[in-house]
Order: sequence, then C-alpha cells, then structure tokens
Amino acid sequence: MSKKILLIYTGGTIGMQASDRGYVPCTGFEQLIRDRLAHSRHGTLPEFDLLTLHPLIDSANLNPGHWNKIAGQIISQYAEYDGFIVLHGTDTMAYSASMLSYMLQGLDKPVIFTGSQIPLSELRNDALDNLISTLQLAAFHPLPEVCLYFNGRLLRGNRSSKVKATGLDAFDSPNFPWMGQVGIHIELHERLLLPPGEQAFCNPEFDPRAVSILPIYPGISAETTHAICSTAGLRAVILRSYGVGNLPDQDPGFIQALQAAAAKGLIMVNISQCLQAEVAQGHYACSAVLNDMGVISGQEMTQEAAFTKLHFLLAGCDDNSLVQQQFSTPLAGEVDE
Ligand code: ASP
Repeated sequence: MSKKILLIYTGGTIGMQASDRGYVPCTGFEQLIRDRLAHSRHGTLPEFDLLTLHPLIDSANLNPGHWNKIAGQIISQYAEYDGFIVLHGTDTMAYSASMLSYMLQGLDKPVIFTGSQIPLSELRNDALDNLISTLQLAAFHPLPEVCLYFNGRLLRGNRSSKVKATGLDAFDSPNFPWMGQVGIHIELHERLLLPPGEQAFCNPEFDPRAVSILPIYPGISAETTHAICSTAGLRAVILRSYGVGNLPDQDPGFIQALQAAAAKGLIMVNISQCLQAEVAQGHYACSAVLNDMGVISGQEMTQEAAFTKLHFLLAGCDDNSLVQQQFSTPLAGEVDE
C-alpha cells in the first residue's frame, strides 16, 4: 500500500529566498518542492501533503507557542498519515525536536525534523538531499520516535545539537550514537530505537518565563546570579557549568546567591558547557556544594533537551518539588537510564 507523509513547513533556510535584508522565509515552497522532486520520483518516494504554518518564521524567532502549533497539527492528523516531517530552521531545530519528543510520547510512526543550510531555491543546496532522504526514512523505515535528519545523519531528536553554523554537517549527537546513517545505503541502528510504549500525547500551555539559563564564567557576580534567579515567573534555571559540573565555590557571594535561590524553591539543573560531557557533581570538591543545595545533575543531557524538559514538566504541574523529583527520570531517551 502506498505511504503518505505530512510535511509541516514552519520556515527556515530550506524555504528561504534572498532579500535586500538577507534571507527571509517565503511562500510558494510547495510548488518548488514538487518541481524539484518531479524528476526524482522513480517510484521510491511516498505521496505527501504539505501544510504551511502561518506566519512562516526564521527559527531564531521561535517561542514556546510554536511547539503547540507543530504538535497540534501532528496530534490532530495523526491517524491520517504514515509519518510526519517538520521542515524547520536549523537555529532552534534541536529545541523543537527535543520538546516534541516529550509532547509525543509513545509514537508508533516517525516524526522527523529536517531543514538545510542552503535554500532549496538555490542551484547548489543541501535541501534536496535532506528532503528526499527524510521522505524515504519517514515512509519506509520503522522509526517510532522523534528524530532529526541532516546531512546523512539520523539522530535522536532530544540528543541532537546544532554544532556548526555553516558546515553542511550542522548537527550531531554528542553524547549518544547516531540512530542511522545515509550513504549509498540507508543503515539504521534498530537496537537504539525506543521500545514501543503507551501513546501519551500532550499539548500543554507553556509559560515562556518559567525556565532560564545561567552560564558560569570567570568572575560571575552575586548580583548577576541574583538578578537571573529572581526574574518574575521563573521556576527553574539551568546552570551551565564547567567540565564535569564545576563552578567557583570560593566566591561566597555567588554561592550565597545560589543558596538563596534554592531555598526559595527554584529548581536548579546542572549541565556542562562542554558539548561532550556528563556531569558528576562532587567529582571535584568545587562542585560538592551543589549536592548540598539539591541541584539536580543534568547528566549528559544537551542544553536543548534539559531546557525543554523543564518547560514540559513545569507546564503540567504547579508543584516545583514534584518536577524536581521527576526531572531525572527519562521521558523519551533523552538521558541514559
Ligand atoms: N536562521 C535560520 C533559521 O533557523 C537558519 C537555518 O534555517 O539554517 O531559521
């Protein structure tokens, strides 16, 4: 039986055109795709519909409400299609893929994010290959989870990060193996796929103020720390620490600012500034104070996966201490068991 895929076009370079102020997203993309694919069908591509989200965005303009729009389309049309492809800008694609993996738990068909570094409208581009490979993956391969495909790499969505601004190999999965590779053949590592689970789709309302990020740097002050941690509406903060989770414990003002934030119930998660890393609080004495404060280790999670997981858990729950307990349990393979 022929397969049918829904492409959800959100914007991003893949569908952009040059303007006098730089690249901008534009309409008319469906016709361009159909024209470009007209000579590539050979019976190996599935049928597809394309749905355009309005307004189209440069994904630098993404906000949590866009996750609701994308997930809402997949949830409402889930029965109609064999798989879903989200065409998305690369800048925040890893955030959206991570969030969708939590909102769409227990999938039994693929949801794959892709995009490109060069628009499909240009002669030399990476868009056509990313699009064709993603269509084939979504239609003909058993991928019951949210993935990200780019430049021959199939990655778990919530393990992916954008690692290059201009290279065509823009995405990687620094702390988890690739789920597959596309070269002459499509190779899938099926042992890495999530086991089938109960379908649990959820499209909660997010509060954009609820989560923030505090990067640690030499000389970080108590004032900066206090200012970020006392922002109105803030419920959780991600500490981006050094190496295996380290920070300047010899600065009493800075440490007191963190202690005060923890004492008033702010959730704090520690992830590393290093792309390839696993946090080990207390491995060095300088991070032992974080264990005393109840800071949660984000283990090997990406910033994108930790940030969106906090948003997801907080959106469904008013009780910070419950979210604190839930955070370390994997929801969709974003962290090792
Ligand atoms: N600024 C663009 C976006 O994220 C970059 C891209 O798509 O590659 O929408």
